[in-house]
Amino acid sequence: MIPGARLILLGRQGAGKGTQCVRLSRHFVVPHISTGDMLRAAVREGTDLGRMAKKIMDDGGLVGDEIMIGLVRERLSHHDARGRGYILDGFPRTVFQAQVLDELTAEQPIDLVLDLDVPRELVLARLSARRVCRDCGTNYVAVGYEKLPWICEVCDSDVMHRDDDTPEAIEHRLDLRRGRHAGGCVPAAGCRRRHHTSVKTSPGLPNFVAANTLDAVAATTLVEAGLG
Ligand code: ADP
Repeated sequence: MIPGARLILLGRQGAGKGTQCVRLSRHFVVPHISTGDMLRAAVREGTDLGRMAKKIMDDGGLVGDEIMIGLVRERLSHHDARGRGYILDGFPRTVFQAQVLDELTAEQPIDLVLDLDVPRELVLARLSARRVCRDCGTNYVAVGYEKLPWICEVCDSDVMHRDDDTPEAIEHRLDLRRGRHAGGCVPAAGCRRRHHTSVKTSPGLPNFVAANTLDAVAATTLVEAGLG
């Protein structure tokens, strides 16, 4: 049987977290839990949460900790996540979220925190060209010659430009993230976890990045088995 895994993927917006998470979740047969996708689903469904979150997301701000923690707590309690594990994407984003996550995972600790390391200039360019499937979240890159409406190859739904992928909202999200890094969010997320690894990524080579991330997970497993 393929062993599961409990992983957190960190990294700047546009670092390729979504793409890598899909690959990792297929590899380990675990759910990809993306807080951004959960919020976008709530916006589409027009729930109270979605209505409240939309404005914050469009401006590139952060939805409140209590709400986000409630969402993640509930999702991690599902059978699939408890049984096999998960890839967590977009959480934690604040020191408080990181501290609560430590408590939530006390019995089943995170195996590895992977930090995708991509320069700011590169992610700015990537994000302006990013297009996303409204329903399944598959990412695409716009080159300017797309036939409209753009239909997703995976699920036949519409491929859209995210409302928060404007230059202003992107800059705001990157600045917020830089502030949190300086404020210790990422170290806090990694402190009680057994491992925290930075994976250097190269532009436009998702397979190469995927191989690196899998190597990092394999190396952790070897260390844990006393073989590394
Ligand atoms: P990106 O990484 O491109 O900013 P995400 O899809 O992870 O996009 O998140 C989109 C938006 O959802 C964020 O800008 C923020 O407004 C909100 N969001 C997602 N996760 C969190 C979180 N853990 N805490 C607060 N807000 C969040």
